[in-house]
Amino acid sequence: NYDEGVPPEVQVNPSPLFSYLDRQATENGGRTAYIYFNNKISFKTVGEHSDRVASALKEWGLGKGDVVALYMPNTPAFPIVYYGALKIGAVVTPMNPLYTPREVAWQAKDAGARVIFAADIFYKNVEEAAKMYQFDRIVVVEVAEYMPALIKPLAKMRLKPPKIQYGGRVIPYRNLLGYSPTSYRATINPTEDLAALMYTGGTTGLPKGAEITHGNISANLQQLKPLYDAVRRKRGLEGLVMMGILPWYHIYGQVTVMHYGIFEGATVVVMPRPDVEQLMKWVQKYNVHVLHGVPTLYNMIINHPKAREFNLRSLAFCISGAAPLPGEVAKKFEELTGATLREGYGLTETAVVTHVNPLYGKAKIGSIGLPIPSTYAAIADTEKPELLPPNQVGELVISGPQVFRGYHNRPEENAQAFFECCGLRWFRTGDMAYMDEEGYFYIVDRKKDMIKYKGYSVFSREVEEVLYQHPCVKEAAVIGVPHPEAGEIPKAFIVLREECKGKITAEDIIKWTEDKLAHYKRPRAVEFRDDLPKSAVGKILKRELKAQELAKLQAA
Ligand code: AMP
Repeated sequence: NYDEGVPPEVQVNPSPLFSYLDRQATENGGRTAYIYFNNKISFKTVGEHSDRVASALKEWGLGKGDVVALYMPNTPAFPIVYYGALKIGAVVTPMNPLYTPREVAWQAKDAGARVIFAADIFYKNVEEAAKMYQFDRIVVVEVAEYMPALIKPLAKMRLKPPKIQYGGRVIPYRNLLGYSPTSYRATINPTEDLAALMYTGGTTGLPKGAEITHGNISANLQQLKPLYDAVRRKRGLEGLVMMGILPWYHIYGQVTVMHYGIFEGATVVVMPRPDVEQLMKWVQKYNVHVLHGVPTLYNMIINHPKAREFNLRSLAFCISGAAPLPGEVAKKFEELTGATLREGYGLTETAVVTHVNPLYGKAKIGSIGLPIPSTYAAIADTEKPELLPPNQVGELVISGPQVFRGYHNRPEENAQAFFECCGLRWFRTGDMAYMDEEGYFYIVDRKKDMIKYKGYSVFSREVEEVLYQHPCVKEAAVIGVPHPEAGEIPKAFIVLREECKGKITAEDIIKWTEDKLAHYKRPRAVEFRDDLPKSAVGKILKRELKAQELAKLQAA
């Protein structure tokens, strides 16, 4: 088993996700589910408040299959609303709080969201989005809700929520807590019924909703459990305390921390903003055992001037995912904390983890590790439905109970994303990889046009669409350029129309994207060219642009 570094067999039992919260609320009701700025919120409260939210949603006529959007940072209200929606059979579509109004409206429309729960501090964006897309109701959640009374006014001062005109469609979250808790639970077929619509660019880069079932997430929780159990045994831990710094709107933090915390009855320290000093303070104060993060976070911790002032020795189990973890960063972090930091891998479509390096036993630097229990991983030909032998580079493909149902209303994309071989249905990840003789996997490149900026996925295609809308842009190509802190930064190569040459600057182009794209998606560098390298059929050769950039970096 994992004590010796070998993933054990797990018999997955797909379940409705709310059954886990119901169990915690009844069996471990007194246990702390969330610590939010020193305020402790019990599982009983989480269960009860989500029953109240469920009552309200039901009274508004929502039911099975209806979509509820979440547009908020990590706060205890996030899981409370999420599980409230699940209880009535609704589907949650979370949005990045950095989204612009245009992005919010686009996702709401594509998902068909009827109600949106938005944080007060982002309300202005929702107000704008509501001019482009009609929500039945907008529920405004105070970020200061669930904070201790003492620091609430302070937090409000710092966060400066706007003045909100309540009434009509716009309702304060507080009102929902006045509904009486319902014991109603929708009938769920876990392998068929959706829990979430998670937006991603996938392999084609066009934004779309990945349909995630209750069964996908509940399978992944069960598949991850043996890892946590191994840590518990090794470190003699009873209850687990986890750090909730990864954002919950993204599948990584949502499954490994938010859902996992409920599944196990763990305590989660909730961080609405990624503040490294605050993180270290809280690790020390609350004896946090588990930290899930991205390479940039671990890098920021080891380079933080105050890193040695805090006692981080409670940390036992840390995972880095979303982008490659440099071996040096892992080593320094382990020296600093005494924790075991391992690289893992997953994606939105596999809700979420498929690979991890064993905590004990053999971990390989530069590798994403071994497939987790009950997960098949292989390397396939990029075109044909064929699997390749060890040490050969091809497309990483996955089969397992965590693999999503398909993209929402995108039959052509689904036809490309899956294939049948050897008695299994495989999902194409769009990542190029190989497997060594011992079954460890290594990511070497991406087939898909995606950039990882500080762990955020940026899809070139989406950025290019916005650039092409600029009246002066004749051609545009966006690639990821290696960057020491961010991992990669989006860089745009642009060919201007004749009449615009010399009149448009890089700043003008970046400014153009500001109200159209979330901050992390905007180009960090712009280069004007007279033409772009093209193939015989006229396709822009991004590989060539990439090679040129790498050569420049190496020469520097
Ligand atoms: P997302 O759907 O936003 O979670 O992005 C998933 C993508 O992140 C994968 O397809 C990979 O390209 C990338 N990714 C995740 N984990 C790793 C890792 N450990 N090393 C390299 N790339 C990773």
